[in-house]
Amino acid sequence: MSELINTKSNISESSQSEQNSESASRRKFSKVLKNLWNAFLKTLFPPKVACDSCGLELVADTRYNLCSSCIEKLPFNNGKVCAVCGTPIDDEADYCIRCQNTESSFEKNRSPLVYQAETAKLILSLKFGGKKYLVDTLSALMADTFIDNRLIADVLVYVPMTNLERKKRGFNQSELLAVEIGKRLEIPVCKGLLKVKETSLQKELSAKERAENLAGAFLAVPEFVKGQSIVLIDDVFTTGSTANECAKALLKARAKRVNVLTAAVTKQRIFME
Ligand SMILES: [Zn+2]
Ligand SMILES: [Zn+2]
Repeated sequence: MSELINTKSNISESSQSEQNSESASRRKFSKVLKNLWNAFLKTLFPPKVACDSCGLELVADTRYNLCSSCIEKLPFNNGKVCAVCGTPIDDEADYCIRCQNTESSFEKNRSPLVYQAETAKLILSLKFGGKKYLVDTLSALMADTFIDNRLIADVLVYVPMTNLERKKRGFNQSELLAVEIGKRLEIPVCKGLLKVKETSLQKELSAKERAENLAGAFLAVPEFVKGQSIVLIDDVFTTGSTANECAKALLKARAKRVNVLTAAVTKQRIFME
């Protein structure tokens, strides 16, 4: 009897699973149809394109997804910059005061923007406002800076977060930027660095404290970075301690060279102690 019941239940289970797979393939088919229909609608009615910063409708597709007035307001880092860290400098010197006094493990940092109010608005909206579409704008700017400065990279590596930091924000903006820049320049992105230590918020610390805070925080993965020319991607270059610690870890794992590409660089450092 119990055998019979088992057989019965097997039969009903198998017909159940047939039904399931049938309805799954039906669902798949209707999904394909829906996608086709949406693609068709898009060609008939292209979506309106809005400025990524102010939301104004754009009459034409622009290179950076920004309207002309927002582009004009952006503080481009087009003047003379420090040969190492890429911060704007006004005088005749080749290096800023920081770079005259300290050695960096990376060769140079380059950034399309100076970190001022308008830049902060973009970057903070991405990091804390979750406006991930700003990655498009920032990565387009960064890819152009990469080309203008003739940076060389076998791979792009982004500044990592700890699992806890990533969980809190839900994403790593440096990773999103690296992936998008990689697509634009056709350079692979690799997870060459891990962040293995929780650190305090950098912005409240002096340069010296920042360096101490970050000491030993990053670990490079030798099989990904050994012998490679690396461009390290981050959102903002402030005192350079994050870039420096990451570059140190990458060189320790035998990376060939490390350059840095950030969306923005702060003006001459306020943290000199
Ligand atoms: Zn705008
Ligand atoms: Zn400098």
